[in-house]
Order: sequence, then structure tokens, then C-alpha cells
Amino acid sequence: MKLFRFGPSGSEKPGVLLADGRAVDVSAFGGDYDEAFLGGDGLQRLQSWLEAHAASAPEVPATERIGPCIARPSKILCAGLNYKDHAEESGMAIPEEPILFTKATSALVGPFDDVVIPRGATKTDWEVELAIIIGQRASGVTKADALNHVAGYAVMNDVSERAWQLERGGQWLKGKSADTFAPLGPYLVTRDEVPDPEGLNLWLSLNGKKVQDSSTAQMIFGVAHLVSYISQFMTLLPGDIISTGTPPGVGMGIKPDPIYLKAGDVMELEVAGLGVQRQDVKAAE
Ligand code: ZN
Repeated sequence: MKLFRFGPSGSEKPGVLLADGRAVDVSAFGGDYDEAFLGGDGLQRLQSWLEAHAASAPEVPATERIGPCIARPSKILCAGLNYKDHAEESGMAIPEEPILFTKATSALVGPFDDVVIPRGATKTDWEVELAIIIGQRASGVTKADALNHVAGYAVMNDVSERAWQLERGGQWLKGKSADTFAPLGPYLVTRDEVPDPEGLNLWLSLNGKKVQDSSTAQMIFGVAHLVSYISQFMTLLPGDIISTGTPPGVGMGIKPDPIYLKAGDVMELEVAGLGVQRQDVKAAE
């Protein structure tokens, strides 16, 4: 299934993109795509509901805003430097264990919403990533069992303010957490439709020019490894997001001079099979 949420920010409704290409409103099923939905076997129940009701479900007009594909989760975790070449372009060592950082959940926005450069920011950058969406509570799970705890996958743009991330001391989350710094979606694509999450092409273009172009096959630590690893340190809850790191081609890595986002820029990005995002960049008012 491909799940999406639509409507004004903060009052999104659930939708499903059906196999026949129709995008339908499934509000009548009841409940948003959140921790309770995923943890309460919602995917299974929704699948059964659709068998009886898909044909009569109202279509979602193409003019509707698309929100993040998950309602605000308990946490967003990100893997840093998880592509060998990206570690190299950043001038940092290849990690021996996953580097983890958090991103504020208030940073979540829809895949076509504007990305706003915060006041005082000077080095705002892009990062196309494969995001894992947790489906079942995971605590101390083995690598072999890890995928059973995954609901599915989505596209994430891990927008980053490099000066705040790297030049202000302490941990990276300061540069990762501003409002609009986490466009997610358009779809939560369920795990059954993504048999090989470590074989997906992903790219990002800036103003029509491709700047990132790689494959999740290049990840240092794969999906099962990350889920199992993180679950040794904390309990992952349904709806939690793990963004798995970005390939080379971020603005910070461009030689000889880095390029950062400015108002008027347009980012487009895709992870194969998970949908395309597009954001206009705006300056804070
Ligand atoms: Zn990242």
C-alpha cells in the first residue's frame, strides 16, 4: 500500500494511492496514520477495509496539499555519514558504528511544502535520504528480526544548517531541527512493496541540475542493521522515523566552493518507488 495524508497542516486526513492509480480519502476508516494506528495493526485493518470500501471511497482532488505521510511521531532519528563517499566529501572518518543524531519532530512538513531558511542561517543544505518508518515496537531486536518491526519506507529531505550543525559546538541536532527541515513523503510505502530497500536509486536536483545521484546499495549500515542497532539503546515506537543518511553531492561538499540554499531555489528529490518531492526555498519572514 501507498499511504499519504492530505489537507491543511495540522488537520491532515488519511489517504491511500490505490494500485489502479486512484488517490482516495480513507477518513471513513477512522484514525490518522500515527503510533496508535501502526501499533494497533492498522495496516492490516486498513487493507481489509479497502477490500470492501475502496471502490466507493471519495477521490482526493489533485489540488489538495499533501502532508507528511506520518502524523507527528515520538522521534526522528538519523544516521550520519552512512555513505562512504559522503563521509569522504565531508572530510570525516568513515564510522565504525552508526553515528546517530536526532531531529526535532516539529521539523516535519509535507513533501511539497516550502523549505524556509531560518533567520540567521547562512549554510542551509540538502540531503536526500531513505527513511524507515517503524511499524511495531522494537526493543533489543536482532538483525534477523529487525525488518518485522518496519512498517515501510518514505523519502526524507534531511535539510541541514551546516553552520549550526558544525560550528556552534555540541551535537548536530541544532542544525537539523528548524521548522520545515524534514519534508517526509509523499507516501509511506509498505514493506511488502519494497522487497530490497538496499537497492534503491535516489537523487536530488537543485534548480533542475542533478547534484546527488546514488543508490541505497552504497549505505555502510543497512536497514536491518540500523533498526537492530538503535533498538539496543532505546525503544523504537510505531511511527518513529529513521532517516538512513545521504549520499555524496550535498552543497557543503561541492568543490572548490560549497553551494548553499537561497530563496528562490527549487529542490526535487526521489527514492525509486517511493515518490518524488519538490520544495521551493523561501527566506524566513
Ligand atoms: Zn542526513
